[in-house]
Formats: sequence, C-alpha cells, structure tokens
Amino acid sequence: MEKFDRTNYCGELDLSNVGEEVTIIGWVQRKRNLGSLIFVDLRDRKGIVQVCIKDNLDIPDIRNEYILQVTGVVTKKEVENKNLKTGAIEVVASKIILINTSEQPPISTAEDSNANEDIRLKYRYLDLRRKSMQDRFVIRSKIVKATHEYLDSHDFIEIETPYLAPSTPEGARDYLVPSRIHKGCFYALPQSPQLYKQMLMICGFERYYQIARCFRDEDLRADRQPDFTQIDIETSFLNQDQILEMSEGLLQKIFKDTIGYEVKLPLRRLDYEDAVNIYGSDKPDTRFDMKIHDLKALFSNCEYENFKTSTYVRGILVKNIADVTSRKKQDEYNLLAQKFNMKSFYCIKVLNNTVEGGITKFFSAEEKAKLTEIFGAENNDVIFIASGNIRKNVAFGLGALRSFFAKELNLIKPNTFDLLWVVHFPLFEKSEENGEITPCHHPFTRPCDEDLPKLREKPYEVYSYAYDIVINGYEAGGGSLRIYDQNVQKEIFEVLGFTEKDIQNKFGFFVEALKYGTPPHGGLAFGLDRLTMILSQTDNIRDVIAFPKNLNAVCPVTNAPLKVDEEQLSTLGIKIMEEENE
Ligand code: ASP
Repeated sequence: MEKFDRTNYCGELDLSNVGEEVTIIGWVQRKRNLGSLIFVDLRDRKGIVQVCIKDNLDIPDIRNEYILQVTGVVTKKEVENKNLKTGAIEVVASKIILINTSEQPPISTAEDSNANEDIRLKYRYLDLRRKSMQDRFVIRSKIVKATHEYLDSHDFIEIETPYLAPSTPEGARDYLVPSRIHKGCFYALPQSPQLYKQMLMICGFERYYQIARCFRDEDLRADRQPDFTQIDIETSFLNQDQILEMSEGLLQKIFKDTIGYEVKLPLRRLDYEDAVNIYGSDKPDTRFDMKIHDLKALFSNCEYENFKTSTYVRGILVKNIADVTSRKKQDEYNLLAQKFNMKSFYCIKVLNNTVEGGITKFFSAEEKAKLTEIFGAENNDVIFIASGNIRKNVAFGLGALRSFFAKELNLIKPNTFDLLWVVHFPLFEKSEENGEITPCHHPFTRPCDEDLPKLREKPYEVYSYAYDIVINGYEAGGGSLRIYDQNVQKEIFEVLGFTEKDIQNKFGFFVEALKYGTPPHGGLAFGLDRLTMILSQTDNIRDVIAFPKNLNAVCPVTNAPLKVDEEQLSTLGIKIMEEENE
C-alpha cells in the first residue's frame, strides 16, 4: 500500500525552515519553465509554496492541478515574493513523485479567477480549491467548535430531532417527502426543530442545543438558501434577560475564537418600534448614522397638501451630495423610491443655508428653518422625504434608501461589527399575501403579560417576548419566550382563526403535550450560514455553503432536483400531472 507522507504543509513553510529537508504534497497551481530551471507553485490546504526544479533532476510531466509529492531543501530566496505568504523561501527539489494527473481544469483555481458564479458552482470542487474559499469553511468550522465548547460548558446537551417530520410552523412552504408505506401521506422536512425542542423542554432536558439543518421552500436571495443550518437552542426556567445574556456570551466566544474580535457586552437592545422609526428596518445596520426623522409635527399645517394630510411624513439626510443631484441622478433616486415602495417621495437640496427647489416653495420660512435645524443640514446636503398613510412603506422605504446610500457612499468602515438585539416585536402582523392575521414569529411566541387583555380586541397592539440578534444589518438569529399556559395557547390559535380541526391536524400532538406540566421555556436559533457570512465578510450565502443551490433552487454540481423513474413514482403512488403548456 502507498503511503503519502509529508513533513510540512506547503503554506506553513517559512524562514524558520531554511536548511531543512522537507517533503510536501500538493496540487500544481502554476508552472513556469525557464529552460534550465522550472518553477512550480505547489498548493495545499494551508497555502502555496514555490518549488524550484533544476535541470539535472529527472521529473515527470507536470501540468496544472497534477498532484505531486516533492522532497527538497527549504532555501532562502534572493528576492522575496511579497505576494506569497511563503514568498521568502522556496523548496529546491531533490525528488518529485507524481501522485495523480488532472485534465485541464475548466476554471482557473487561482485566487484571481474571474469565472462567473454559474460555472464556479458547476465545478465547485475546483472553485473550492482556492484558499480564500477554504478559509470561509475554516471559519464555519471554528464557529461550530466554539458553539459546542460554550454550550457544553453551560450545561447544554446536544439532541438530534427528526428530519422526517410533520409540517412545522415557521410560515414558509414545506419541502414534502412522500411516504411509500402510507401512500398519499407526506413527511415535511422541518423548517426548524421548533416543536421538537419545545417538547424536549416538556421532557425536562432544560438546556438543549443542536446544529440543525432546516428546510424552507422560499424564494431565494443572496442571504437565503432552501436548506440552511441553525444553531438551535432552547432552555427552561430562564427569563428573556437570562436567555439574551447566555446568547451574548456565545456570540462573544464565537467572534473571539474565529477572528479574534472582542465583542463588548452587554449588547445594546433596541425596541422594535424604535428600530423601525429610527432606522426604517427591523434589522438595522447601525454602523452608520443617517437616522430617520419624523416630520409630521413640523408639516402638520403645511401648505403642501400631501404633507398636511399624510399620516406619515419622514425623512433622512444624506451629507454632501447636492452637487450630484442632477436630473439624471434624481431620476435614479425616483426609480429607487419606486422599488422601495415610496409613492410620495421628494428630494430637497440644502443650498445657500436653506432648502431650495421643488415643493419647498410651499414651505413657510419657519418650516424651512426648522427642517434644516432638525437634520443639522449644511450646504450641499440632501434631505429625502417620504410621505403616505402606510407606515411600513414610508419607514421601510427610507430604511432601504439609507442602506443604499451607505453602500453607494462607502459609509461603512471595513472590519467593523455592530451587534444589537431588536426586542419587543409585535405578536402578529397582516400577511402580505392575503391580508390575514399571522404570527410575526410563530404561533408559540409568548405575548407580553401586560398586553394579554388586548389579545382579542386589538391583536395588532399586542407585543411579544421575541428578540432578534442583528449584526451589520443581517438578522443573524432570533427567538422568543414560548407560551406554556394551555389557555393562552388556545386563545392565540383562536385569534389566528384556527378551527379545532386545524389545531388537531397541525399541532394536536403538541397541544396534548402542553397539558402535562410544561415548564416556562424559551430559546432562539442563530443562522450558522449568516454568521459565517458576516465573520468571513461576504454578502453571498453561497460562499459559505460547500454545495449550495443557485437562485433557481438547483444544485449546479449534481443538477438536483431531477426527474425520477416511473417505477419509483408508482411505488410511492404518485402520478405527475402534465404541465399545461408542455
Ligand atoms: N424556530 C425559530 C426560527 O427558526 C427560532 C426560535 O424561535 O427559536 O426562526
């Protein structure tokens, strides 16, 4: 049997190894033939080192991505290659063994490969040969390690829950798995282990966690995949403050152990209402300021009718861009306003120490003065105002504009991390799909005690013990205290319009479990993929998942989902309907 021994990793050699004979194994990144000398960049998981081959050495054919075992002496280079971590040295080869050959790869494995993402995803096993890609998976693995260590030392135990499950209540569409034994019946892949972890509290485990795969059939985005991983946590007998404190400790350790960043505790807590009113988002990026100001009081008697009659008039100030408010730019902003759902939208320049142009002719001198005072506006600044009767459109629209300008104007310092809790979420919201009342989180979230009397009459005014952890504008996790009183749970189901039959069908087993001494409990889940994105500073979730789906929910390496044989279908009792336009 062959033995593939090495003494060192390519990427770890440095001046301290000079004079040593080493054996390294790696892939050929690049070969340069200078006649009497051949240089090979040899790459392994720790990095690249240059191998120097003199013309008296008997060598095999060497091409890109061949695997070589090289023995040689580490030698100081005359001229250091500053672009390479190992650039001060090279390995002067005395023996080269060819371990395997490779066809010419369809994409470059060099760091500066500019292949487009589709082709990179198709040849993922080549794309992931790049160190910058592999580094992200090292971070991911360190997050998992830190999680195990922290939770283990805080008395948590790891328990797995089923993937073949009934439908779970996170509000997305399920991935279904047909049952062969019970034809016509389906398992659903869990959208999260929510009900299982709550039952584990009823079991008496008190502190559970799991690195859990979750499945949600939703439209994909840059930060969303159909199967993704959560660090899922549930505890008994802790109140909200205690849960947040325990979770902050975990985050602090994760940041420290992965990138050496010191997170200062306790984290800031922002009320949901303040997050929406001040930043126009329930996951505000507070690495930059640009706060939203409420202008309703200022314009309550404004001659400009729209401001007088709109329930919401709000604005943000963007510094020092008046000189780019050309017609073309304004058209661009108006398009953005449309995209962000702001129907009444105005762009007001600050020039000559006052506001000028457009609707400002309707403003009184006092209104103009107050407006510039509220924002501390200076010449060349621009105030963007949105008005309307739907708070979400005005606030979230300005919030989206805020993020747009932060990117456009490079307002965010690199390598900064801003962590905060958004707390005190409403219990319910109106579904955007059908206008019906729906839980903001899930139907097991505990309403705030003081709001319980409003449950039936004013459900939208009921807040909950729910919290999200927001990092750099990403919702990196969230959770809540759960209802442990059967009667409150029943009332919530009623407010949501579930019939007795719905309840029995969907969560009968859980409602039954709640009857047998349910401890007060609560928990949360962190998105492992999003945490890895944030810590490895990418805004593409596909960069931190080894074999991700593309935006069409297809795995480009395997082409899944695929058609299956008639026979497999008939064993499952399934017949595929012809597409109408096929
Ligand atoms: N199951 C929730 C989610 O996936 C998290 C939690 O409430 O613990 O968002």
